[in-house]
Amino acid sequence: MYGYVGGIVKIDLSRNEVRSYDLPLEWCRSYIGGLGFNTKILWDQLPPNIDPLSPENIVVFSPGAFVGTSIPTASRCEASAKSPITGRFGTSNSGLFWGFMLKASGIDILIISGKAEKLSYISIINGEVNIRSAEHLKGFDCWSTADSLRRDYGDVEVASIGPAGENMVRYASIENNYYDAWGRCGLGAVLGSKNVKAIAVVGDKPISIANVREYEEACSEAYSRITSYPLFNLWRTYGTLVASDAYSSQGILPAKNFQYGTIDGWERCLRENLHKYKKKGISCISCPIACAHWVEVPEGGYKGLKLKDLEVTWVLEFGAKLGLTDFDKIMKCTEVASKLGLDCCSSASVIAWAFECFERGILSMDDTGGLRLKWGDEEAVLKLLEDTAYRRGIGNILAEGVKRASQIVGRGSEKYAFHIKGLEIPFRDPRGRWGVWCFGYLTNIRGGDHLRVRAPVELFKLPQPKDEYWLEACGVRREVIDQLDMIEEFKSRAFINDGEYINIPVMTVWSENLISIYNSAGICIRPPVLGTMGPTIISKLYKATTGINISPEEVMKVADRIISMQKEMNIAMGETRDEYRYPDRFYDEALPDGPNKGKKLDREVIDRMVSEYFKLRGWDPETGKPREEKLKELKIEHSKFY
Ligand code: SF4
Repeated sequence: MYGYVGGIVKIDLSRNEVRSYDLPLEWCRSYIGGLGFNTKILWDQLPPNIDPLSPENIVVFSPGAFVGTSIPTASRCEASAKSPITGRFGTSNSGLFWGFMLKASGIDILIISGKAEKLSYISIINGEVNIRSAEHLKGFDCWSTADSLRRDYGDVEVASIGPAGENMVRYASIENNYYDAWGRCGLGAVLGSKNVKAIAVVGDKPISIANVREYEEACSEAYSRITSYPLFNLWRTYGTLVASDAYSSQGILPAKNFQYGTIDGWERCLRENLHKYKKKGISCISCPIACAHWVEVPEGGYKGLKLKDLEVTWVLEFGAKLGLTDFDKIMKCTEVASKLGLDCCSSASVIAWAFECFERGILSMDDTGGLRLKWGDEEAVLKLLEDTAYRRGIGNILAEGVKRASQIVGRGSEKYAFHIKGLEIPFRDPRGRWGVWCFGYLTNIRGGDHLRVRAPVELFKLPQPKDEYWLEACGVRREVIDQLDMIEEFKSRAFINDGEYINIPVMTVWSENLISIYNSAGICIRPPVLGTMGPTIISKLYKATTGINISPEEVMKVADRIISMQKEMNIAMGETRDEYRYPDRFYDEALPDGPNKGKKLDREVIDRMVSEYFKLRGWDPETGKPREEKLKELKIEHSKFY
């Protein structure tokens, strides 16, 4: 095979059995790889009504189709399972080198089912797969686990769980070596429930390219598209931290659990301060952007702390959401959460909920074991992270995620639990800047999350048109829109008034599809890619790499197919229409401060937009269930479960 390595490996832990299969060629055309392959495997093999933490759950890892090549940013690997935090299709994406090594071991899809009798790790060394005892790694944090396996095997890439995963914290991450993670949806708890501590992988199998000349041309086109993106250098310099300034100036920080849009002291967390900490840029394999920072604390109590950090998600989550406004304290929280194996957005959100409940007298020192919860106190944050990972005291409740924790505590605390479909929502306040990004919290298959939907032309500094929900201000020049790699039929509906506005439901469908293709091809979603790589160049790269000719329209159909399958799975797992709503604060309380002071959301209009979004997808506008004719059009064959 070209582009792929042709192998599926299925590990049945209950039987202590490893089997290999050939990758069916027709799956490549229909699902591409990564997220697409995972969707197909779970569609065929995962019963919907199982307990996500039971041996019946299945975890699938698939590197994207382009991983292993030099296509820019082709580093991403998707992991999927039924999520223990949402009870729905759970999926997460990670870069660096692990997915590359899995493919270099001859594996396009790795499936893990059952439950090992004792704590185990999986070694995949040049294609040889073994299940081995990990009793000696019990209780190790993720970094010590990686250290230990690298001592034993040399330069292996290690996916591991920490104490949080071992203790089945519902939002435990799978850490990717030291500095990346499959963070969202609690897949670390699923590995923990299977008694899998780690997967160590190394390989040297090369990828064969179908047409080298076409491949070189397409790669060079992709490279120059990305590097000529107007904000490319800004991204190389600041990475995602570019957004910190804009969130601050717009007053859309998630300050103190979304109570405010601004916070005193945030000027210390603006991008201009990065140089005091940054030692060098870091990149995933095959990436010219190198958006990540290697940082070191120069002074103070955490002096000498070094790690890959100051990515805006951590800064806003452990920073503004918890009232912390110093990079060094945020870095310490990042380090501890990464070692324990906790998802950043979920853990910060659950702690923010606890802080607000404490502030309002719903939780007391009796509940917290004598710990005073005070905004901006990083020591309280660090203590709660530890207690959560080990399920100690109140940590045992926090470990359930904000939805369940608030139901356990009751006493009105549900009002301060910020989640959609059970998944803790990230940092942008939809009241202050409405648009595709925030509407995407609702439509996202995996729940309240920002990584699966975002407009390729987003310029969110622009003010939102007054009292308008269906349109987002666009602001990019007409030539930029004309050059955008987008199917014309979509483009003509997504841009309104000669490009002045974006039609939010239409662009939501487009961008969800586009990001699903990225997650199947294995490329990154950062803006220099998102703004420049569409179905035309992806189809060219795919044909040159694999020899399989898929038109740009067919590329986007793959996304339509896998999203409809995921939606069917979610409905079979119990999803209902009333889960498509924001936490009440966003509808009932106006933003109290900042330039967008006074804004709140309109329930009724947004509900109509959800119906419109369902309709655009070919799903029932009331229930969201994909219509039978849509499944036929997408050639989705029912499995024994769906
Ligand atoms: S842009 Fe950043 S996250 Fe994306 S592949 Fe490059 S280094 Fe990795």
